[in-house]
Amino acid sequence: MIVAQADQRAAFDRDVAGFALEPVTVAEAQARVPILNPAAVGLAAMADHAWDIDTDLLIQSHIRNLRAQGGVVQTGARVGALARIAGGWRAETAAGPCEGRILVNAAGAWADDIATLAGIAPLGLTPLRRSMARIPAPGGQDVSRWPMIFGAGESWYAKPDAGALIVSPAEEHATTPHDAWADDMVLAEGLARYEEMVTTPVTRLIANWAGLRTFAPDRVPVIGADPSDPAFFWLAGQGGYGFQTSFAAARLVADLLGARPSDLSPGLIAALAPGRFA
Ligand SMILES: Cc1cc2nc3c(=O)[nH]c(=O)nc-3n(C[C@H](O)[C@H](O)[C@H](O)COP(=O)(O)OP(=O)(O)OC[C@H]3O[C@@H](n4cnc5c(N)ncnc54)[C@H](O)[C@@H]3O)c2cc1C
Repeated sequence: MIVAQADQRAAFDRDVAGFALEPVTVAEAQARVPILNPAAVGLAAMADHAWDIDTDLLIQSHIRNLRAQGGVVQTGARVGALARIAGGWRAETAAGPCEGRILVNAAGAWADDIATLAGIAPLGLTPLRRSMARIPAPGGQDVSRWPMIFGAGESWYAKPDAGALIVSPAEEHATTPHDAWADDMVLAEGLARYEEMVTTPVTRLIANWAGLRTFAPDRVPVIGADPSDPAFFWLAGQGGYGFQTSFAAARLVADLLGARPSDLSPGLIAALAPGRFA
């Protein structure tokens, strides 16, 4: 659901087209989300074609599939050095050395650092911090059937989260790769934008956190072999969409590495390839 003030028509129309939503009356929006403030919300639109992802279940499912096919998950194994060796790569990790034919660089915000360790030119990936506040369900209501709600132009968003509500200022603050944490002032400003549109003020935060959404210069994911070395493979720059794109991205990685035909068009594969920056 998108909600906007009456004078935010241009941003609202862009969102309606971008998210493929149907405009609804404010009363219809309120029937789904009773806390919407009719004195502030002048425009609303909705769609039922989007679904929530249980991200923990998604990751556990990917890990199960990987292990079922002989893959190994090794945590606590920070890569500190990479060396090109005959027929592949050697990584020095905190859990000991590791050798392989192809190096898939899926290091998120740190993907350019891994490239530098490997002697490959970085792509100019930028981690953008985004914060999140977890608040009690407004007025103790059952929020489980509420849609995800965006302020026009993604100026904030809120969604149900295990009986509570998470509210994000939807900020994009450029930073360096690190374990991110929420900025209090950014959270407060984002919560104020949310509060403008609802009737129930935020009196307490249950928790807050932040993460990094890492983008390539053109904000398109980077999937493919580096033009300088076919044994160095990029899977990076998923931005804010790495969960929902993970099945398709993993499929493309497998097809490209296995030299199999892909369901994706050659034009799309070229648009994702790191060679586009060369
Ligand atoms: C607030 C927020 C909201 C989001 N909302 C959505 C959403 O609605 N939908 C969606 O699809 N996505 C969303 N995302 C984006 C999603 O979280 C990312 O796209 C995704 O996590 C990227 O996955 P990744 O595996 O590429 O990177 P990461 O999850 O960052 O994983 C990279 C891994 O590499 C490891 N690593 C780095 N350097 C080294 C090294 N030297 N040695 C060993 N390991 C190393 C790191 O420890 C890390 O575990 C959101 C992100 C944030 C922050």
